[in-house]
Amino acid sequence: MTQSFQHFESCLRGGGRLQRDDISWLWQNATDEELQVLANIVRRRFHEPGVATYVLMRIINYTNICVAKCDYCSFFRMPGSPEGYVRSEEWIFEKIDELVAAGGDFFGLNGGFNPALKIGYYVDLFSSIRRRYGDSIEFYAMTVVELIYVAKLSNLSVRQTVDLLRDAGVRWITGGGAEVLADSFRQRHNPLKYTVAEYYDSLRDILDGGLKSTATMVVGFDETLEERLEHLEELRNFQDETKNSLFSFLCWTYKPENNQLGGKEISPSEYLRHLALCRIYLDNFKHIRTSVLTQNANALRGLQYGADDFDIPWEDEVTQMAGAIVDRDVNRVLGYAHESGFGTVCRPVAFQATAVRK
Ligand code: SF4
Repeated sequence: MTQSFQHFESCLRGGGRLQRDDISWLWQNATDEELQVLANIVRRRFHEPGVATYVLMRIINYTNICVAKCDYCSFFRMPGSPEGYVRSEEWIFEKIDELVAAGGDFFGLNGGFNPALKIGYYVDLFSSIRRRYGDSIEFYAMTVVELIYVAKLSNLSVRQTVDLLRDAGVRWITGGGAEVLADSFRQRHNPLKYTVAEYYDSLRDILDGGLKSTATMVVGFDETLEERLEHLEELRNFQDETKNSLFSFLCWTYKPENNQLGGKEISPSEYLRHLALCRIYLDNFKHIRTSVLTQNANALRGLQYGADDFDIPWEDEVTQMAGAIVDRDVNRVLGYAHESGFGTVCRPVAFQATAVRK
């Protein structure tokens, strides 16, 4: 088979799809400029050139107690640790109110595999949030992997858990916790967490139960190129199978401080090249999101590599404890996007609530 930049460019311009081997070839042979050209051909299938959307949001970490023991995690504390916490509802409301006062209307709740918190805790919390704020805000209630854990802990199926959460006012479960979806990776780093098959089966149940979801990936641990490609291939197949149901794909980078795995961060250039390949390969995702939380100004260069959307995150203890630096200056972050040649449009909560499952 012919593998060259010119061949791939003509294939994409004609509306074709590249395959896993092509992405592997591009990773090893294409220049940055060539990746940008290819990524922007796919981007233009969905978006006007030169415009990006963003959301001002925060992650609210309601508990840091977790028994999954991922070796790359800087955030978790085991049950019984004096540093462990479960935040009160009032504490969580204060965080939401602060975000709303700053102009944000979207947040994500994220915790750990806390064996003391069964389904009743989550139903009460999410019902209270929906009662208090109605449709004026939207939120990611949990990650797919937290949902899998809570279902097991509560002796429920994933689908039963989804039904209870939906009835409590939940609309979104984020695809966080995916990191690298390859069983070889999972065996090395956190065999207790889940298997890849379990992850996708649960995601299917989440969508079938009427909730919306997203896809994520984290790179820069010790994953191989084949493991990265496996993640992307399975994800593209899943998105084909579910008729493009996942709203967006976000890729961020591993931060090595304060955890067992340690190591060194990947370079800004490696992140951008990976982002471009994600845009090229995941041609059934409308939104490819770039990570301001872990890449700061470099994330906005990602708009030139095919990304179309980003968060301006106010807080996320999980990545901050691993070395991420949060920049709350909205104008400065938007300025980085403008320097990259992009106009920016705030994506309101109504968009989050409706733009899914065609
Ligand atoms: S990454 Fe998540 S699941 Fe893994 S140890 Fe940390 S909090 Fe627990």
